[in-house]
Amino acid sequence: MSASLANKNNAPNASSDYSGIADHSGPIHSFLEYSTSLVFPVLFALNLHWAGSRLYELDLLWLIALAIPLGILGGDLVSGIVHWAADTYCSVDTPVVGPSLVKPFRMHHVYPRDICTHNLVETVGNVCILAFPLLSVCLYLQWLLPESGLLAFAVIVVALTSAATVATNQFHKWAHQESVSRFARCLQRMRLVLEPTHHKLHHTAPFNIHYCITNGWLNPLLNKIKFFRRLEATLAFFGIRKANC
Ligand SMILES: [Zn+2]
Ligand SMILES: [Zn+2]
Repeated sequence: MSASLANKNNAPNASSDYSGIADHSGPIHSFLEYSTSLVFPVLFALNLHWAGSRLYELDLLWLIALAIPLGILGGDLVSGIVHWAADTYCSVDTPVVGPSLVKPFRMHHVYPRDICTHNLVETVGNVCILAFPLLSVCLYLQWLLPESGLLAFAVIVVALTSAATVATNQFHKWAHQESVSRFARCLQRMRLVLEPTHHKLHHTAPFNIHYCITNGWLNPLLNKIKFFRRLEATLAFFGIRKANC
């Protein structure tokens, strides 16, 4: 992150955290955000219902107790990897991912409270667009292999990971809001969702830790094992350089 971005982010005046620019999606992107935001809960519920019924028939319903933490951790890991990739590689001019993924994350470092101006669909819609084909494939696989208990367990983990990832930007938005509902604050205090002081470490120089933004449970471990630095070194070995190098 450049020095100018760092200064912006650390400015004492909270109003400078907003760009003042209303940046809305184009008509096609907006249609996809709204339509998939409506369909996502249906696909999620259908997958859980079919997979849960299968586990019940096999007397394996207890596996849901294992699937829930796996799904939450999966969502936190996905959020961290996507966030790290968007912060570290490509540019806002890269086709497809540049405007849709890289630009929002890079602009978030300059104007961290712009996310607070987004409505619910603008906040979660981008992830719903990606979750739609994934959950559709899960339904199709369950239709192909209705007897498989292993598939039913995997589908529940994937569905919960998708739900945690879809909810991530809402949790991230709460972490930047000047005030949140008592319910959201309660979830933050229990560390079930991203806690503001925890996330602030990502917005503090050198801006290269705490990428996970669902609830941040994985951040201490990933920092300790230098997960993202090792990934960067591995990619550099294969000739893939960081954008700011
Ligand atoms: Zn970031
Ligand atoms: Zn943030």
